[in-house]
Amino acid sequence: MRVGLGFDAHRLVEGRPLILGGVEIPYHMGLLGHSDADVLTHAIGDALLGAVGAGDLGSLFPDTDPAYENISSLILLEKIMEMVRLRGFQPVNLDAVVVAQAPRLAPHIPRMMDRLAPILNLPLGAMNLKATTTEHLGFAGRGEGIGAYAVVLVDNV
Ligand code: MG
Repeated sequence: MRVGLGFDAHRLVEGRPLILGGVEIPYHMGLLGHSDADVLTHAIGDALLGAVGAGDLGSLFPDTDPAYENISSLILLEKIMEMVRLRGFQPVNLDAVVVAQAPRLAPHIPRMMDRLAPILNLPLGAMNLKATTTEHLGFAGRGEGIGAYAVVLVDNV
């Protein structure tokens, strides 16, 4: 068994949709990035890459490559899962936390789980998604951006 850790953060700006865990969340701002800037999916992808020793998302899908402009991060996660399988691994469980002062994310977590579970080939009981504020501390607390942390355990298939 092997474990991987992922972290990501993106800036919140006007005029972009807010996509987290592959789900569009109603809000007056969205995350800025070359792809859809889905920080949660990016953190999960980096955790998977870390677990199987395959580098990191930023090097695999560079923001200089027009192929990844505004791409759904779920597609990037599917590509990462192909790499995980090629190396002979399968996720065992996922734990992740989104750090955002606003909007309130708890009502959207079941939909995020439904989106991510089939891509990760995980039963819902092996996935745990959480959201927290930072009590107005730091960049997330000031509403300047959103961060996400993920830990994934993988096992040899
Ligand atoms: Mg990112």
